[in-house]
Amino acid sequence: MRYVSTRGGASATFEEALLLGLAPDGGLFVPEAWPELGAEGIRRLAGRPYKDVALEVIAPFVGDSFARAELEAILAETYATFDTALVAPLVQIAPADFLVELFHGPTFAFKDVALQLVARLYERVLRRNKGRLTIVCATSGDTGSAAIEAVRGREGMEIFVLFPEGRVSDIQRKQMTTAAEKNVHVFAVAGTFDDCQRIVKELFADRAFAEATSLTGVNSINWARIVAQAVYYVTSALALGAPDRGVSFAVPTGNFGDVYAGYVAARMGLPIRRLLVATNANDILVRTLETGAYEKRGVVATSSPSMDIEVASNFERLVFEVLDRDASATRALFSGLSQSGAFTLPGHARERIGELFWAARASEAEVARAIAEIHKATGHLLDPHTAVGAVALQKARLAGSIGAGETAIVLATAHPAKFPEAVARAAGLTPIVPPRLAGVLTRPERCLPVPPDTGAVKSAIRSAIGWRASL
Ligand SMILES: *Cc1c(COP(=O)(O)O)cnc(C)c1O
Repeated sequence: MRYVSTRGGASATFEEALLLGLAPDGGLFVPEAWPELGAEGIRRLAGRPYKDVALEVIAPFVGDSFARAELEAILAETYATFDTALVAPLVQIAPADFLVELFHGPTFAFKDVALQLVARLYERVLRRNKGRLTIVCATSGDTGSAAIEAVRGREGMEIFVLFPEGRVSDIQRKQMTTAAEKNVHVFAVAGTFDDCQRIVKELFADRAFAEATSLTGVNSINWARIVAQAVYYVTSALALGAPDRGVSFAVPTGNFGDVYAGYVAARMGLPIRRLLVATNANDILVRTLETGAYEKRGVVATSSPSMDIEVASNFERLVFEVLDRDASATRALFSGLSQSGAFTLPGHARERIGELFWAARASEAEVARAIAEIHKATGHLLDPHTAVGAVALQKARLAGSIGAGETAIVLATAHPAKFPEAVARAAGLTPIVPPRLAGVLTRPERCLPVPPDTGAVKSAIRSAIGWRASL
């Protein structure tokens, strides 16, 4: 299996796409062809453990980069870190509405599902190549802790996480600063999340620094993260009658990684009726699906911070598909974006997206109401991200985009205890903190305050890794 760039200027193996993240031409890697499971292949997976389904879904994408037995061992180890063997259990909240809980990993948000795998894949490759990696990550909360948890104590990797000081929740900060392993470095940046992101971009832009430190990122455009996320679409649809019955999914969306993984599952043959793109007030995707105009408008802060984004990077992968894989047309649109902050999709491309996708935004009031109503009706507390998905599902049913009796699954992307204030405001009670999460509240913290300055971050990285001092 080989990968091509959405901008036509690069190709790679799975291993290369894993290590590079972004393609060298600025595009995103997608598989050269879609492997098909087919109805029979899907039916055979019914009732099998999560890790076995993961093997069948992921193996065709991995090609020769990992032997099947090696991948099987890695997957078993990866999903043993979850607190339930089901990994992604289903909960019914209405006759045709379900939640798939994706927060049973070590940091209580769905990013564990992919990052626990990616870190183990990195480790095998580095061991094989006797290589080293310096991982950098700017975070507004969830990604930083999931990346640290996945990488801590692993051979050949140093991780540097930049978070905006005073702008993440207490729990989120402690999840990052209480890792005691020497390969974990947490920088509290005296600035905003945008400062953290800018610094990370500037680190990569310094080619000499990036090459000498073997710099890499773990953001959601990494192909390996996407393919790991396709698995729970398959397991949850199977549990509710696929391949004989179609299901729809409501996906709380930021960077379009998770919902694009649903598209990957559909391309493999999973009968998905609808993919709901659920956004908060940062609604660039809702506007694009309504009008075709993809237009940056700045970010507003909401109660679902992991979805507070200005552009949805993985959307480029879908645009490439609906333009019939025309890389020069894709490149033209996305370079227009960096120049003018906007582009308009051709009408036929927007129509093709609309065949499978439907989008809805949720206001802060709608999110709070959904948390309160669902808690009252079912006893289940939703976190604000998941509630955005639940609101989108209600809207899709009202609009007839999903039929009244048709099965739909909301992706529950975070545990409510990660966002106690927002949940308490909405539902009038504070979620119980699971013991595994409570542990971080009392451990000693360790982080380095740094100014919002790339030069200062570079020298802090150099002195922390203490090798190739000539840099
Ligand atoms: C990252 C995140 C999302 C958004 O996922 P994307 O793949 O960026 O669309 C939703 N909910 C939570 C809790 C997250 O951490």
